[in-house]
Amino acid sequence: MSLSFVPSSNVASIKESATIAVSQRAKALRAAGRTIIDLGAGEPDFDTPTFIREATKAALDAGATRYTAVEGILPLREVIAADATRRRAGRDTPVTPGEVVVSTGSKQSLQNAAFALFGPGDEVLLPVPSWVSYFEMIGLARATAVAVPGDPSIGLKVTRALLERYATPRTRGLMLNSPSNPSGAVYGADELRAITDLAAERGWWVISDEIYARITYRMGEAPSALDVAARRDNLVVINGVAKAYAMTGFRIGWSIAPRAVSQAMTALQSHTTSNAATSSQHAALAALTRTDEADAAIRAMVGEFKERRDAARGILSAIPSLELVEPEGAFYLFFKAPGGDGTAFATKLLETEGVAVVPGAAFGTPAWVRASYAASRTDVESAMHAIVRAWSA
Ligand code: PLP
Repeated sequence: MSLSFVPSSNVASIKESATIAVSQRAKALRAAGRTIIDLGAGEPDFDTPTFIREATKAALDAGATRYTAVEGILPLREVIAADATRRRAGRDTPVTPGEVVVSTGSKQSLQNAAFALFGPGDEVLLPVPSWVSYFEMIGLARATAVAVPGDPSIGLKVTRALLERYATPRTRGLMLNSPSNPSGAVYGADELRAITDLAAERGWWVISDEIYARITYRMGEAPSALDVAARRDNLVVINGVAKAYAMTGFRIGWSIAPRAVSQAMTALQSHTTSNAATSSQHAALAALTRTDEADAAIRAMVGEFKERRDAARGILSAIPSLELVEPEGAFYLFFKAPGGDGTAFATKLLETEGVAVVPGAAFGTPAWVRASYAASRTDVESAMHAIVRAWSA
């Protein structure tokens, strides 16, 4: 007798990542012979810089093939802690390596943090549009995500006043993401400080996902919560190497959090995945310590992203009514679809023009659409012309 699968309550309400669903439909069409431009993915199209790949091979040859401490190798946590200490600029005690946990991608860091901080009965403020996984991560922790709609007049960002409007006595924390996936908006230092001040006053946790911090087009690096917050005893800052260093497949992210939170996250991780892959930790160490080479590589990649962004914006300017969030960071264009139906427009684009984008429903904003420009310049330009055609068709 075969056993039929009834999903447990742990997973019953999990939805497949909508961004992955679009990529799969695009792949299926491609397999059927269609030419498809995939602007659905959130992954740099560049190769990992050579010096990082070489350092990884050298680490493997030197024996980096065994378990490490659950929280990660000390030199990597030291360099992360030193950078955080520099950002605090003497405002409080140095950040120690004991406050850093290295995980299998920043995705795991975020999940560890959500699990450690939130539980049943807790509400977590989630500015929308929001990266698709935050909703699920908060749900997996059995807490409740409370969507806080961003203000279109400031690039769909949230303010102190907006957050206050959605707060209740059950609010335990909030998620921040700047530069934002999906909108490409970047919070300025003052905007960020107003929010961290509110959280400190109310005793809320702030999980600040800064994975795109080094991919910005105006200010060199986006402000970190560590740069601006008056205190850090309620801060969990998340970062990683995936996006800025083109190291998605290495799966290295980290958290900087108060020691007790870091200990809880480490205990959780010790029962799930243990340490992040050892050779990848050494790769990340090379990325963070060989700064001249890393800075040059990042400058080149960000420069290329910027050129694509500018070219895309130029083509889209043929649509006079286009509501586009000012794309200041990450590598996404986020715009309101014609007729206010992002899913209908994304479907039309894929089926009639062979261009894959992600409907805004995935991010809690169904009227909008996200197009990634982490694709070749030629593909980005062709896709933008297709969007202009589909707009008026
Ligand atoms: N946070 C945001 C906002 C992202 O867009 C992504 C990747 O798409 C991640 C985190 C996860 O990155 P990682 O590859 O480090 O797990």
